[in-house]
Amino acid sequence: MATIFSKIIAGEIPSYKVAEDEQFYAFLDINPLAQGHTLVVPKHETDYFFDLEDNEIAAMQIFTKKVAAAIKRAYPCIKVGQAVLGLEVPHAHIHLIPMQSERDMLFTNPKLKFTAEEFKQTAAKIHAEFEK
Ligand code: AMP
Repeated sequence: MATIFSKIIAGEIPSYKVAEDEQFYAFLDINPLAQGHTLVVPKHETDYFFDLEDNEIAAMQIFTKKVAAAIKRAYPCIKVGQAVLGLEVPHAHIHLIPMQSERDMLFTNPKLKFTAEEFKQTAAKIHAEFEK
């Protein structure tokens, strides 16, 4: 059965898309730890991040680097943090989170709430920076 992220990539479930290329898809996490919290996923479905082929991890990290730069321009922060968890969704993904402090990376923190319009604007802002 396709994962929820495969359904998002296929357009069967809506998402706030930030960036895309042939291999990868980036969209906003709907339970963000910070405004701009983005997930990067390979279109090719694999559960465990560290089971990805070497060349896929390398290409994913290069794509993620561009997304992180776009997030930082859209939402100025000290650095963009990267995390791999995958305990909830069995489709490898990287979390990118703009950090104002180390505390912003604590996944036990309460998640922020945004309206659909706010999510849309956040995604559009990062997307515009990605395209630059
Ligand atoms: P984990 O697998 O532990 O890395 O967590 C999965 C992440 O995916 C969580 O931060 C969720 O908020 C996020 N998530 C789950 N479903 C969706 C969705 N439909 N759209 C955006 N983010 C999602």
